[in-house]
Amino acid sequence: MFRKTADEIMACDPDLAIIPVGSIEQHGAHLPIMTDWAIATELGRRVAERMNAFQVPALPISTNREQMGKKGTVWMEPVTFYQMMTDIILCLKTQGFRRIGIVQCHGGIFIMTPLIRDLNAKYNPDLMVAVADTCAFNDILYREGILEADNELHAGEGETSQMLFIAPDTVHMDLAEDFVPSVPRPYLSYGSIFRCCPGGVWGSPTLASREKGERILERSAELAEEALNRAFAYMSAKKKMNYSNF
Ligand SMILES: [Zn+2]
Repeated sequence: MFRKTADEIMACDPDLAIIPVGSIEQHGAHLPIMTDWAIATELGRRVAERMNAFQVPALPISTNREQMGKKGTVWMEPVTFYQMMTDIILCLKTQGFRRIGIVQCHGGIFIMTPLIRDLNAKYNPDLMVAVADTCAFNDILYREGILEADNELHAGEGETSQMLFIAPDTVHMDLAEDFVPSVPRPYLSYGSIFRCCPGGVWGSPTLASREKGERILERSAELAEEALNRAFAYMSAKKKMNYSNF
């Protein structure tokens, strides 16, 4: 879509825009800081192609204070992310986009839920905003046998496999070490990931392979399309209730 001219985009006149969201953050000793952004770029492109949508470039920076401790992790305030996304989405709305699909490829964006809820409450039915969160796909990928381990949270089997497919020259498999901490995920609000995972990895990267990465990306693109279409269908079916379109 980026290679098209504005006139070519006018001729297709899409009403759906895809916004992939990643992050720049530490991913253990074996993966580059661009991991979530690289996956967002690849997966976002695939989802936009499948859905014949306009695509915004993958956003590299979001909220990830839980990854602090080493140089290279870049975050913004949640309120800044909220405002930035609101600006981008309302800009698209002005241009006639009615459906916005966010492809979220970094787990720690907890302001995503109020952001989406607020925009839909304010602007349905003229604007519908839905999210496909790749963290939610891990259970499915495990049940389907694409992932061998059910412990993927950060820099594990899934992310490492996808990076072996997308940018193998940036992956240092000789440095990959599996680790699962004794505390649950909400403890990332009580201390950075390095407090519970000294290597900055939460999962089983040694199980990763390029072939798994290709399968994960293919299946995740299908799952994202299904999740977005389900949400848009649900919102489209709503009738006005008293004063509320939400
Ligand atoms: Zn990641």
